[in-house]
Amino acid sequence: KLASREFQAEDTVICIGDVTIGGRELQVMAGPCAVESREQALEIAKIVKKGGARIMRGGAYKPRTSPYSFQGLEEKGLEYLAEAGRAAGLLLVSEVMDTRSVDLIANYVDILQIGARNMQNFALLREVAKSNKPVLLKRGLSATIEEWIMAAEYILAGGNSQVILCERGIRTFETFTRNTLDLSAVPVIKQLTHLPVIVDPSHGTGRWELVNPMAKAAIAAGADGLIIEVHPQPSEALSDGPQSLKPERYMQLMKELEQIALCV
Ligand code: PEP
Ligand code: MN
Repeated sequence: KLASREFQAEDTVICIGDVTIGGRELQVMAGPCAVESREQALEIAKIVKKGGARIMRGGAYKPRTSPYSFQGLEEKGLEYLAEAGRAAGLLLVSEVMDTRSVDLIANYVDILQIGARNMQNFALLREVAKSNKPVLLKRGLSATIEEWIMAAEYILAGGNSQVILCERGIRTFETFTRNTLDLSAVPVIKQLTHLPVIVDPSHGTGRWELVNPMAKAAIAAGADGLIIEVHPQPSEALSDGPQSLKPERYMQLMKELEQIALCV
């Protein structure tokens, strides 16, 4: 199989300009769960940049459990995100939910995110395989590691070798945390595949207080990076406020990560 270590022994390193994912450098993707306004995107981009991350996240098409919840600003959100990213000098990652919007989203962002709920949307996997953008493939809510790797295989087999895996927690009997962050998946992915793997401690725990310790644990486990939700006013966020870091907590985490990265 194309994702396997047998097929390729060396780690895959994805290069976007001078940013590498899967190489020696740790990459942090940070930003709001959803782009909410032009002002919010511009404000968060500045904070993300100041903290030292190179990549900004922000959803414009949101996979919400309820159809009555905020669904994202769609193309307007992509415009705000692109403007904010350009102004701050950040790469961008945003979720694609539908085969019909892959090309549109690819025009605005550097990395296409496949959300947990679409991990086995095979038509969507085939479609992003045809784009020339790196794909961030989140683990499904109840996907085994084997199923997750096979989903990556769809993208690789479709002709796109730039796949980044993302552990974001799985459904278990535990309800204290939103999901159970399966950090053992990180060394397992490293053993079985040559693909970069990052960790999302925000969705993985659902609680902002747990983001800092689990982010550090992810790095200790061998993750190539992190994706973290940051919001200037989490209590006012239109989605995922309880798991979003306030700017000062994001800055503090970045400072602590720098110290950890230095001694690895
Ligand atoms: C997100 O990144 O905001 C998101 C919806 O993540 P997931 O697909 O992991 O739930
Ligand atoms: Mn979110």
